[in-house]
Amino acid sequence: MENYIIALDGPAGSGKSTIAKVIAKNFGLTYLDTGAMYRMVALYMLQNNINFFDENAVESVLDNITVDIIDEKFILNNEDVSIEIRTPEVTKIVSAVSAIKAVRIKLVDLQRYISKGKKVILDGRDIGTVVFPNADLKVFLIASAEERAKRRVKDYLSRGIIEEFETVLKDILERDNTDSTRKESPLKKAEDAVEVDTSFMNIEESIKAISDLIQNKIGV
Ligand code: C5P
Repeated sequence: MENYIIALDGPAGSGKSTIAKVIAKNFGLTYLDTGAMYRMVALYMLQNNINFFDENAVESVLDNITVDIIDEKFILNNEDVSIEIRTPEVTKIVSAVSAIKAVRIKLVDLQRYISKGKKVILDGRDIGTVVFPNADLKVFLIASAEERAKRRVKDYLSRGIIEEFETVLKDILERDNTDSTRKESPLKKAEDAVEVDTSFMNIEESIKAISDLIQNKIGV
């Protein structure tokens, strides 16, 4: 198939970005981490003291924000913020920012623009339901909240950030709740998505499961 779209959706910590990165490399795809785009907008709100619960305040500064992804680096208004967007501070507020309609309109437009005419895998929450409802393959990745919190704690630790398991678990459950109950594009499995539960799979097994789906569905 010439160009195709793979939508990889699922809750926080289900392994989407780790898996998508490897799949993109193995199949020669462009990888678009849409969560990182929402994180960049959330970081802007923090840096500029914008009350992100105030929709109008957020909307009024959106035109001042440029987000780019260049060579796997995340660029907010010409500054590399790849490290800053992964801090617990940004993680705590990103769901509130991503629930705002104007934010979603801006980023969804950009996601469609970047994906145009390419073979691409996008990970997110609403890729199969809203951004690309006609995606060639839709995968919905899940794992138990405890397993996802365990992975997140390990991930933080590898970057020198120490966070308690209980704190991370609470944050994940809160984010699951905000992301799946919001009015705009809530996190939900598209009807035609294949659900893959990675609770009892390691990374290699998860990658193999998704690779098999790509080969079967897209025939590459
Ligand atoms: O995937 P990641 O944990 O980096 O996503 C951060 C947040 O961005 C999510 O909790 C969600 O609120 C938001 N998001 C979204 N739609 C997407 C991707 C992420 O609302 N497509």
